[in-house]
Amino acid sequence: MDTRERQIRENIQTIKQRIDRAAKKSNRKGSDITLLAVTKYVSLDDMRLAIDAGIKVVGENKVQDSKRKFYQIGPVVDWHMIGHLQTNKARQAATIFTMVQSIDSTKLADALDKAAGQLDRKLHVLVEVNIGQEEQKFGISPQKTSELVEYVRQKKNLQVNGLMAMAPYVAEAELTRPYFKALHDLFTDIKLKQHFGSNWHTLSMGMTNDFEIAIEEGATLVRIGTGLFNA
Ligand SMILES: *Cc1c(COP(=O)(O)O)cnc(C)c1O
Repeated sequence: MDTRERQIRENIQTIKQRIDRAAKKSNRKGSDITLLAVTKYVSLDDMRLAIDAGIKVVGENKVQDSKRKFYQIGPVVDWHMIGHLQTNKARQAATIFTMVQSIDSTKLADALDKAAGQLDRKLHVLVEVNIGQEEQKFGISPQKTSELVEYVRQKKNLQVNGLMAMAPYVAEAELTRPYFKALHDLFTDIKLKQHFGSNWHTLSMGMTNDFEIAIEEGATLVRIGTGLFNA
């Protein structure tokens, strides 16, 4: 086993142990939390090492990059789109991804629904919430989230499974907690008010710097890049 392979395996193991510990604090099991490996800055070689070491879900933030990688690696893992998506890339996105986590407008929902229909596919989606209400961030405002979920739910070729958000950048991870708590409240509120069943299952929040806090506050999927590939 070469050094890089060993390093990636160790990183995965460390992150999984930390996921386990955080899950226990919220009375859950580590296996209830999906570890998504963010591969946006990662080489094909490193991606392959991570997949060989057991990674099942990868996240990319640009259609162009993911297309290139997808043709090399293929659908041996689930591919998630976690970056901002332009409507003119909807068709390519619907070809590559099993889930688009970054739905933030009715226009994008329309374009993806149409593209998925043409490809005869069903696409899983999350609605991205701008939970810190930051000007520079993508995502729908918390106030308008429920309405967008309701809209996306009507789309024949999309299945809406939950919410995604990025906490604002803060000096200390603990300061992200109120944002994660707010997103979890919104997630629960929508589930109840819109009478969702088991399809409403994914709360995607937490990255390398703050994933344990996100899990303590109810995340079911964490998106880790640096912690897996650069630690
Ligand atoms: C880059 C990125 C991540 C991963 O960030 P790390 O700090 O490297 O773990 C997670 N989510 C989104 C949306 C990203 O763009």
